[in-house]
Amino acid sequence: MDPLQTSIEYLKGIGPNRAILLREELGLRTYQDLLHFFPNRYIDRSRFYPLNELPKNNAEVQIKGEIIQIKTVPMKRGKRLVAHFSDGNSTLELVWFRGHKWIQEQLKINTPYVAFGRLSWYGNKPNMPHPELTLATEYEATKMGALHPVYPSTEKLINKGVTQRIMKQMLYNLFQITGNQFQENLPDYLLKELQLISRKAAIINAHFPKDTETLTQAQRRLKFEELFYIQLQLIQKNRLQKQKIKGYVFEKVGATFNTYFNHHLPFELTGAQQRVIKEIRHDMGTGKQMNRLLQGDVGSGKTIVALLSMLIANDNNFQSCLMAPTEILATQHYQSIREALGGMEINVALLTGSVKGAERRTIFEALAEGSLHLLIGTHAVIEEKVQFKNLGLAIIDEQHRFGVAQRAKLWKKNTLPPHVLVMTATPIPRTLAMSVYGDLDISIIDELPPGRKEIKTVLRTDAKRLNVFQFIKEEIAKGRQIYVVYPLIQESEKMDYKDLMDGYESLARTFPLPDYQISIVHGKMKPADKDYEMQRFVSGKTQIMVATTVIEVGVNVPNASVMIIESAERFGLSQLHQLRGRVGRGADQSYCILMSGNKRSQEAQTRLQTMVQTNDGFEIAEVDLRLRGPGDLMGTQQSGVLQLKIADLLKDQEILKTARYFAKKIVEMDPDFAAIEHQRIGQTYAKITAHKNIWNYIS
Ligand code: ADP
Ligand code: MG
Repeated sequence: MDPLQTSIEYLKGIGPNRAILLREELGLRTYQDLLHFFPNRYIDRSRFYPLNELPKNNAEVQIKGEIIQIKTVPMKRGKRLVAHFSDGNSTLELVWFRGHKWIQEQLKINTPYVAFGRLSWYGNKPNMPHPELTLATEYEATKMGALHPVYPSTEKLINKGVTQRIMKQMLYNLFQITGNQFQENLPDYLLKELQLISRKAAIINAHFPKDTETLTQAQRRLKFEELFYIQLQLIQKNRLQKQKIKGYVFEKVGATFNTYFNHHLPFELTGAQQRVIKEIRHDMGTGKQMNRLLQGDVGSGKTIVALLSMLIANDNNFQSCLMAPTEILATQHYQSIREALGGMEINVALLTGSVKGAERRTIFEALAEGSLHLLIGTHAVIEEKVQFKNLGLAIIDEQHRFGVAQRAKLWKKNTLPPHVLVMTATPIPRTLAMSVYGDLDISIIDELPPGRKEIKTVLRTDAKRLNVFQFIKEEIAKGRQIYVVYPLIQESEKMDYKDLMDGYESLARTFPLPDYQISIVHGKMKPADKDYEMQRFVSGKTQIMVATTVIEVGVNVPNASVMIIESAERFGLSQLHQLRGRVGRGADQSYCILMSGNKRSQEAQTRLQTMVQTNDGFEIAEVDLRLRGPGDLMGTQQSGVLQLKIADLLKDQEILKTARYFAKKIVEMDPDFAAIEHQRIGQTYAKITAHKNIWNYIS
């Protein structure tokens, strides 16, 4: 057996009880776990303070001396243990408030000790509560570097006597046993080119750094290694998937595409749209299944890309489907696509939960016999009963609303899987996308259609509400439409609905009939009522739309030019950005007004300020990542990929890019790691894929 798979129970000084404790508290089971249990900080212990030169503050200091006397001192409740510690010139009191008995038994009088801890002062008298005490002889024998590691720990571990000293001792003992067994797992040429230190030196110095310089090098080397092997797996997975999963070959771009493109396209495509369509066309022609993620900020024009892709499928005699997360959005896609294809011989249908009875049956039949070319809908599209004759392309809009499991469902519908295009308007920071979707191909629309004006965003307190109303009036007078959005958070749903209704009533008083018409849409309404209200707004019959976040995703009303977000401090950044994206879709100057009380957290303040400062979805995504951390941002589904031992997706973006670059290059050059210089990679890769966990491979 691999010696590093030994249970930590067998490590000197641990035993079964501490082993259980370490497993429960920190998830440490094996020698290997311990080796990759990295300190979260280091303390400089190169210096010893003479007791008469101690800093007069609460610094952490290291001192040398002997205990000359021990006593217990009664307190109001319980008692404390006090040891007089002397370095020959001055003294200081070491103090314990708990665990006396056990400590008193251990303490040796008139024996040299090294003590480390935080000073506390009573007037001119220094003392050091709960010091880390090490016999000077032991300290010398196990000294590894000037910087001492501080490991993550828990209250329980400390109370049960598993102190930092014990942890360090544990690692020290482990190095004694295994010190020479850390085999290099990166090719020499990479180490040389990137100036990375050896694996062995890196692991030792990550725990017991010789100095800060070496520590930095050790961390850099281990971070690179961790990220490199994650990227290698993702890239390899993507390559193998492509090899394995055959796809339909869409050979030609034919009549429907060309007719639409030459005669019906209402605008010129942006450069980014053209590039992305080329990428998609290429993918669908290779004979492998396409698995592509299309990222593009709100309003960047993803729908037309979807439509043109579906036309290519149609030209090759395949059906396509387009799935949207909400009924409103599906309906809107359906209407605009039908309009776009008006006069062309393509059959389009809408399938949602509310399509029932004969209408539903007709759709099912037409799908099965192939006379229906294009199906647009909600989740209903992937229900078991829906059988396509030959589904060639499946497009998922706003993918963050669909789980990965649902994405997988589409695979099983046919003998060959359809090509899959996933579109998202929630920009994911590039580094995160690389880590989480590293196995998908990614297209980015990084250009907005021409003539778009920046949406002006302002922050207003409730005190300014009258001014805001006045502004609404002026915009309506110019013929524009207005959104007013209220937060809806599950926990306080009742309160939220009250806010929404109060807001609606107050608006209705300020903007009375018959001059003004107001729509209201929220989650508690029946779908048919929602649609009716939505439709009134879309068609311009109503000037104001009061809504909860049901309108968040994808709705397109180019004439709407003002987005008012109530209690904006309660929305997350990506949600705010999505909401703002509902305006600024036409040629007029648009506005986003963030309403907020005066009281808000630091984090909420940062969110609102970010919204005021920038319209760039990627920039906003970066801030969001910084505020929330990668795990939270992606949801728990993908968080597995993000549980890194040493690298940090935020701070180590440069290392990640380098790691990805080399992983890609190596897979392209030598996919089976057959070259002699890639032997180490091949062996390590085999172990990782056998063990799943990146860090489980070390021999
Ligand atoms: P999203 O990427 O958010 O789904 P849409 O596809 O809904 O964006 O497009 C937003 C608006 O921009 C639509 O009104 C669409 O017709 C328009 N649009 C898209 N591409 C272009 C373009 N190249 N030139 C001008 N307008 C465009
Ligand atoms: Mg869209």
